[in-house]
Amino acid sequence: MKTSDVFELLRDGGPQTRAQLAESSGLARSTIAARIDVLLRLGLVAPHGDAVSTGGRPPSVLALNPSARVVVGVDLGATHARAVLADLAGTIPAEARADPDIADGPEVVLGWVTGSVRSLLRGQQRKLAELAAIGIGLPGPVEHSTGRAINPPIMPGWDRYDVPAHVRRDIDVPVLIDNDVNIMALGEQHAHFPDVQDLVFIKVSTGIGAGIISGGALQRGAMGTAGDVGHVRLPRGEGVTCRCGNEGCLEAMAAAPALAATLCAGGADVSSSADIVALVRGGNLRAVQVVRQAGRDMGEMVAMVVNFINPSVVVVGGAMSAAGEHLIAGIRETVYQRSLPLATEHLRILPSAAGEQAGVIGAAALAIAHVLSPEEIERASVAITG
Ligand SMILES: [Zn+2]
Repeated sequence: MKTSDVFELLRDGGPQTRAQLAESSGLARSTIAARIDVLLRLGLVAPHGDAVSTGGRPPSVLALNPSARVVVGVDLGATHARAVLADLAGTIPAEARADPDIADGPEVVLGWVTGSVRSLLRGQQRKLAELAAIGIGLPGPVEHSTGRAINPPIMPGWDRYDVPAHVRRDIDVPVLIDNDVNIMALGEQHAHFPDVQDLVFIKVSTGIGAGIISGGALQRGAMGTAGDVGHVRLPRGEGVTCRCGNEGCLEAMAAAPALAATLCAGGADVSSSADIVALVRGGNLRAVQVVRQAGRDMGEMVAMVVNFINPSVVVVGGAMSAAGEHLIAGIRETVYQRSLPLATEHLRILPSAAGEQAGVIGAAALAIAHVLSPEEIERASVAITG
């Protein structure tokens, strides 16, 4: 049993003594003691609470030490950026925000990222050496293994750009990159559904995408495009041309630009998700109808996902989700009609509880998962024990 296995025992089983760890693992006490010694030296484990010290011996109850290291989670959108500092338990003491345009390119935007990392650390009196990793969400398709954005439609200058290498030239820690919807799914699960193993996060704003957590793990697919559901074809959309060149795509029917176009044709003056949400909240009947229909259209896609991977929770987030119950009601309408009763018996379809924070919480969770992965713990153990 490796050091990382002993770490997992403490992580899953809560605070324990060396004797309890020896008993639950079946390992010799001397082996447990040696593994714990490494974890204590790494700072990942520490004496728990104010356990009573008897006869001059060190307190014997041990637990994870979330404050040992920190990570930074970054959520980059089309025109917004957020960064948070988090400890290894995901507790967030500080946040930075700005509104750079992603189209300003990687030099400008990643300059903001590294500057924010330094100022967040300074603000919490943390040293650069205490930073263990940085997680970043980008608003476009990402090759997770290399951290490169691939043909991102709204990110000129970013195509195949080596984001981790750029950040590491300034701050040399592991840099994990994923797309915005995936980190939102992670954030929602981390903050509000820690016990849910099968969760789908649907983001609706200028586009439509899904982040899929199945069997407890984020599913990226072979090329990282899993959950790219904006261009499934709806029968109702025949004759409607999408920006991708195809006809009848979900995005061309139900994303914010499509709804804005429909409302403008009826005389309203709207262009963004926020405009549409404001109309709905103001009780504009036509806007309510349009959003509800968008929900029904999205429901076609959600029903397919539900039948395919049987999630227990579907979370609807993104700027359009602020339109509230009308969108969700439309989705539920179609999903309950189109899915098998067993798949929907305990299915919950809910608005995002993490809201605007979902992305940064998830980006931090992505970084923490890397730092606490068995591979990284083994690597760090070998580094200090030789
Ligand atoms: Zn399309």
